[in-house]
Amino acid sequence: MRTAIIGAGVAGLSAAYELEKSRKSGAPVEYTLYESRARVGGSISSEIVNGAVIEGGPDSFITEKPAAAELCRELGLGDQLTPSNDADRKTYIVVRNRLVPLPDGLMFLVPTKLVPTALTPLFSVKTKVRMALELLHPPRPAGHDESVAALVERHFGAEAVDRLADPLLSGIYGGDAAQLSARTVLPRLVEMEAKYGSLTRGMLAAHQQMRAKVGAARPAASGAPKAAGPRGIFTTLRGGLQQMVDALETRIEPAWVRRSTAVQALEKTARGWRVTANGSAEEFNAVIFASPAWAAGALLTPVDSVLGAELSGIPYSSSITVNLVYDEAQLGALPEGFGFLVPVSEGRAMLACTFVHRKFLGRTPPGKAVLRAFLGGMKNEALLTEPDETLVATVERELREILGTKAIPIAAKPEYAQVARWRRAMAQYAVGHQERMARIRERVAALPGLKLAGNAYDGIGIPDCIRLGRGAAKELVAALVEAQQLR
Ligand SMILES: Cc1cc2nc3c(=O)[nH]c(=O)nc-3n(C[C@H](O)[C@H](O)[C@H](O)COP(=O)(O)OP(=O)(O)OC[C@H]3O[C@@H](n4cnc5c(N)ncnc54)[C@H](O)[C@@H]3O)c2cc1C
Repeated sequence: MRTAIIGAGVAGLSAAYELEKSRKSGAPVEYTLYESRARVGGSISSEIVNGAVIEGGPDSFITEKPAAAELCRELGLGDQLTPSNDADRKTYIVVRNRLVPLPDGLMFLVPTKLVPTALTPLFSVKTKVRMALELLHPPRPAGHDESVAALVERHFGAEAVDRLADPLLSGIYGGDAAQLSARTVLPRLVEMEAKYGSLTRGMLAAHQQMRAKVGAARPAASGAPKAAGPRGIFTTLRGGLQQMVDALETRIEPAWVRRSTAVQALEKTARGWRVTANGSAEEFNAVIFASPAWAAGALLTPVDSVLGAELSGIPYSSSITVNLVYDEAQLGALPEGFGFLVPVSEGRAMLACTFVHRKFLGRTPPGKAVLRAFLGGMKNEALLTEPDETLVATVERELREILGTKAIPIAAKPEYAQVARWRRAMAQYAVGHQERMARIRERVAALPGLKLAGNAYDGIGIPDCIRLGRGAAKELVAALVEAQQLR
């Protein structure tokens, strides 16, 4: 079986790795991995500057989804897995240039603790009253999909959208709460609304159930073994996520990786697929699309115009990261915690800033501080055309305005600055995404040998991309084995 994999981000690399594993165990499998850029890894790109790990793209993955850590262990990187420093976890929201900590007891956008919610300066009295009355919401049967903003506003009011939902989601998806699908992005809240009415009551019930489960599962003897390895809410690799990309690259057949080779055309043939790249065509039995959906949509339109249009219709946002490495001696005291989020209503370029040296210990040398700003998103794409110097100067100015010149003195200059632009890199699960996916799955099922993987379909983060990439490859190998048995 000859498979073309289009796109060598983490999804495409994971698919190639899985096919290579099958090949090593004797399956008649060959693959070609096409990548339009000169380097593989897609959005994952880290470098080490004067001993500090600088992540241009993602900086970690969520620990709760196991696919990424599992892959890292398989790749021999288990000892490099590094948990987030949750003991120091504290996140602020910028409200009129002041840093306001997220109140204690906030779960998934839902306030669950009375006193911290009543005392926080994050919300007005009107919003707090609304949050208390939310406990009385009657159950609401799940109807049509709606935006996250509509769901949150119905329960907690517009201020909760502006100061909570929007900044948290633009920090994750570079997205806009008014466009993101509640059913896709916050399925648990949609279920809770149908069952309990009040999201606060739903969240408290879920929390209690979880505690009861953990209590029941807890070993009686104190000497019983603990779960393997350290755990934080997020996990990263000590030397940067690039370690995963590099390790994947060493596990796949180098001669079958084509860098700087964009796939230009795709045709369905009687026996499979014809892929054209660099002006020459090759025949394959199967194709795994691990490119962004907009690239897959353009290539698949001549094969199935309806499928092409559905894929092209998945919106994407662009973003920019600006990493600034400082000598800590030049800085004053930064606030405690991991960093802050900036609501769009603050009118700033920055959407978020992470104090990287605090979030993950051991990746920044002593005496250095790394501040990583996240800019752009659905509402500020124009920033992408600004020159690097302007973006760095904007971030430095906004950091001083938000953190104060005591923390970032006028004289403090970063000893290193990196700007990374990510054009149309992050899929947005817009209202109706599940219905769109059902239509896409139906069309794909009618095209034998075609698979889709990547962040546009069933999870935006690295673990989901790995799961989908490996899953696509496994499905192709399983179909091959089945066909051989039938012969
Ligand atoms: C700034 C930023 C921060 C993020 N932070 C996090 C985070 O902290 N944690 C997390 O879990 N996730 C994060 N994400 C999301 C996560 O990084 C991505 O969803 C994931 O890496 C996407 O992997 P992918 O393989 O699906 O796509 P990509 O990485 O986009 O790879 C697709 C590849 O396809 C190639 N391609 C496109 N067209 C063609 C063609 N015609 N022929 C050949 N190749 C083609 C592209 O060049 C690209 O290399 C972040 C994303 C960004 C941009």
